[in-house]
Amino acid sequence: MKRGILFIISGPSGVGKGTVSKALLEGSGGTMVFSVSATTRAPRPGEVHGREYFFVSEEEFERMIEAGEFLEYMKVFGRNNYGTPRRYVEEQLAMGNDVLLDIDVNGAMKVKENCPEAVALMLAPPSMKELRRRLENRGTEEQEAIERRLAEAKSELSRMGEYDFVVVNDDLQTAIEECRKVLEACKLTPAYCKDFVSDLINEDF
Ligand code: ADP
Ligand code: 5GP
Repeated sequence: MKRGILFIISGPSGVGKGTVSKALLEGSGGTMVFSVSATTRAPRPGEVHGREYFFVSEEEFERMIEAGEFLEYMKVFGRNNYGTPRRYVEEQLAMGNDVLLDIDVNGAMKVKENCPEAVALMLAPPSMKELRRRLENRGTEEQEAIERRLAEAKSELSRMGEYDFVVVNDDLQTAIEECRKVLEACKLTPAYCKDFVSDLINEDF
């Protein structure tokens, strides 16, 4: 059986990572699963423990670090901690499911260091004005947090060269389609076909 694809989506806050991820997961027919991160930030209205995040205390987050439970972890925006629990990701990949990570730029590069076959996609906004509009319209952050996230956006985008793919999230349906095409193409790369091909080489004629 082929291993699943470890698919990372990053991009500035408000660019649409959550929206695009949801569509990819819903359209996958169960072959793609979401890696639920642990975070010390407070839940937004409507967020459910275990669905968007595992909302944990600082103490629990520290315990998870000490126990080696994270594939990567990071302090984002100088305030909250976020981390990717390792076990779920490894189990799902081994079962042949694709695993989607919505994580920041530093986390993405850390994952690629540990798992070089991971595929990293940067989602970019069509313009900075539109990025502000989306963050403000979402209405989930105070103005100060919005400004802090916008200030981070340019440095995040400047690291685009470290990614394997870039998709501009202007029209939502087009962006979703482009992400799907990336996933399809990744399934045809040697990194994802290597187990199949090594079995083939061991077969008798
Ligand atoms: P992120 O997860 O990157 O922080 P979200 O998925 O929460 O971003 O999207 C931020 C806001 O932008 C949401 O209100 C969402 O409905 C909206 N949005 C996402 N993609 C688009 C798009 N292509 N066009 C217009 N609005 C969008
Ligand atoms: P938000 O608070 O808006 O949900 O997320 C803030 C930022 O943290 C986003 O860039 C998101 O991709 C990132 N993030 C979420 N989970 C993780 C994680 O487990 N690890 C890392 N490194 N970043 C994460």
